[in-house]
Amino acid sequence: MRATVMYGAGDVRVENVPDAGLVDPTDAVIRVTHACICGSDLWPFASMAPSEEGQSMGHEAIGVVDAVGTEIRTIKPGQVVIMPFAFSDGTCEFCHDGLQTECVHAGFFGNNGMNGAQAEALRIPYADGTLYPLDVGDDMAMMPSLLTLSDVLGTGHHAAVHAHVGPGKIAAVIGDGAVGLCGVVAAKRLGAEQIIILGRHADRTDLAQQFGASDVVAERGEAAVERVKELTGGLGAHSVLECVGLAASMDTAIRIARPGGAIGRVGVPQDADMPGSQAAFFANLTIGGGPAPARAYIDELLPDILEGEIEPGRVFDRIVDLDGVPGGYQAMADREALKVMVRP
Ligand SMILES: [Zn+2]
Repeated sequence: MRATVMYGAGDVRVENVPDAGLVDPTDAVIRVTHACICGSDLWPFASMAPSEEGQSMGHEAIGVVDAVGTEIRTIKPGQVVIMPFAFSDGTCEFCHDGLQTECVHAGFFGNNGMNGAQAEALRIPYADGTLYPLDVGDDMAMMPSLLTLSDVLGTGHHAAVHAHVGPGKIAAVIGDGAVGLCGVVAAKRLGAEQIIILGRHADRTDLAQQFGASDVVAERGEAAVERVKELTGGLGAHSVLECVGLAASMDTAIRIARPGGAIGRVGVPQDADMPGSQAAFFANLTIGGGPAPARAYIDELLPDILEGEIEPGRVFDRIVDLDGVPGGYQAMADREALKVMVRP
C-alpha cells in the first residue's frame, strides 16, 4: 500500500510500504477515505533532523473498517468510523473520565514510530476504545466537518473548555490556523458574548468572523496586548484560547487575560519552559489544557454538525490525493492553504 513518510525537514515522500494488518487481537484495520495535514505536522516539516527510517505521517482520519481482531466487540467491518488522533483502550480510569489522551495505553498516530493516516490504510490499536462509528455513508456532504472531530474541532473545544468559556464571557483566540478557527466555533457554541481573534491572515480572520468572531486583532506582541485591552474596557479577556504553541503566543495569552481569567492552551509547546510565570501568578490566572481528548468530545459536538448548527469543515480549502500530499505540506507551510484534506 502507499503511505506518507517524512524523512526530515521539507522531505515528505509518498511510498510503497508494507500493507496495514492486524497485529494484536484488539486491533482493527481501516481503509482511509479522508485524512488531513495538520498544523502540528508543520513543526517537523520545518525542523525534523534527517532520518533514514523516516516517520509515517498523519493523525486525523475517517475510514471504513476493513478487518477486526478476535477480541473486538463493538467495531464491525464496513462501518464508517472517525479515528481520533490518539488511540486509547476505552477501559482505564482516564478513559472513563473522558481523558483518553492520558489513557494508560495511549499513543499518537503518525508519531514516535507509530504509523500514520496519510495512507491508504492504517492499523488501529484498541479499536473498540479508539474508533467512533458513524451512522452515515462515506461520501456525504458534511464529511469535511465530521473529519474535524478527529482533531481540530475537539482541540479548539478543549481550549475553550479549559479557558472556561461561557455565556457572557469575553473570549480571545490566539492563532488563525484551523485549531484557532475551531476555537472560535467552540467559543461561539459555548455562548461567549464577545470573541476576539488574534491573527494576521485576512482570509482566515474573515472566516473566523463568519464563525462568530466579533473583533480581529492583527497586531502582535505589545501592540496586540494594547488592542485587546482597548476592546475589553481595559480589563482583558475572561477566557484565552492559546492555539499556537510558541513562547510569544503564550506570553501574549497571559498578558491579555484579565485577573482571575483562564487560559486553555492546545498549541503544542515548542519550548520546554513556559513564559509569564510571575505575571500569571499575580493575575490569579488559571492555566490548563494539553492534548485534547477528541474521542470524548465527539458525543457532544457531533449532533451540532449533523443538525447544521456548526460547519467547522469550512477550514478545509484544498483537497489532494496521496500524490499531492508533499505539495500539500508545502502549501500549508507557505500559508497558501489553511488546511489540506487528503483523499487516498
Ligand atoms: Zn484508557
